[in-house]
Amino acid sequence: MLLDNHIHSSTAALRARAQPAVAGRDGVAAPESADALQPWWRVVARCPACGSDRALGRGPLPDRCYVFADERIPLPDCGVTVTGCADCKLHYKSVVPAPAFLASVFRRHFDTGAGGKWLERHDFAPEIALLRKLSDTPRFDLIDIGAAGGDLLEQYAGSGAAGRRSALDVVRYPRLDEHLDGEFITGFLDEPVRAWSGVPYDVATLFDVFEHLYDPGTAFANLRALVRQDGLVFIETGNGASYWPRRFGIEQWWYARLIEHHVFWCREALTAAAIRHGFDVVFCREVRHKSRREMSAGNTAVDLLKVGLYRISRHAYPRLATWFGKEGNQPWHPFAKDHLQACLRKR
Ligand SMILES: [Zn+2]
Repeated sequence: MLLDNHIHSSTAALRARAQPAVAGRDGVAAPESADALQPWWRVVARCPACGSDRALGRGPLPDRCYVFADERIPLPDCGVTVTGCADCKLHYKSVVPAPAFLASVFRRHFDTGAGGKWLERHDFAPEIALLRKLSDTPRFDLIDIGAAGGDLLEQYAGSGAAGRRSALDVVRYPRLDEHLDGEFITGFLDEPVRAWSGVPYDVATLFDVFEHLYDPGTAFANLRALVRQDGLVFIETGNGASYWPRRFGIEQWWYARLIEHHVFWCREALTAAAIRHGFDVVFCREVRHKSRREMSAGNTAVDLLKVGLYRISRHAYPRLATWFGKEGNQPWHPFAKDHLQACLRKR
């Protein structure tokens, strides 16, 4: 459940549950092929958020392999499509890696640069200031889900009067303990949370977690348990309805071409899921990903050059990238507002 700058990918690193494949009927993988996909992949036949099997559209990922760190992981023979749910507007992959399989991928790279990307440091001061405005109390108990090294908790503590500072993650990083002043809950957000204090929080934060969910229903049920009535849930995740996925196709979007991303939210899908699970959306805006907001001028210039080349010819771009030893995935526009921040209030 965790992710990009959070180790929630690492989360998956510890997954070890059995993974039954789900028989598919979405035209991507025949039901009988689901067995052939085991134990590495599982077919997703229905929208994981609302259960609908009505599709707005489907597009196949253009790749034959996922690339994770320096490892190439072949896609299943049936390929992977990104499906849009006709009912709630969530986009989801037709085939996802079984959690234990994904965990094994993460495990191989956990101590390398791949693991490091989830431990990049980020500035959460603007979000903490926003939460102080949205919350009915300026001194709130906070749990950061996918807390990684604890940057958010550290900044909350340093921003004035702070309440409990807890974390839920699959891995407890040593640096986190310096900033923890509450409890640490081990686990995945989309699995039943077992051992915890049972004392609900005023605020839960989830940065780069929601795109990793296999089971949004369980995640929302956990959030309802973890947060008190009128408490807040602050989410940042990719926006499948933003300009780049709309312009070039969501299956071309670099964000969809990551093995650890399974679902792609938009304002409509997130609102529908929130309401279904007893939350109101009290705030929602489109933002750049936090790593984009903190880029150096040099890296920004390089990315702008890539974006220009991609716009000129997105078909030639992968070949050009190959000459430079790169994979040729769609570049990430440094100024694209391709993420959503949403704040939910529990009814
Ligand atoms: Zn749906």
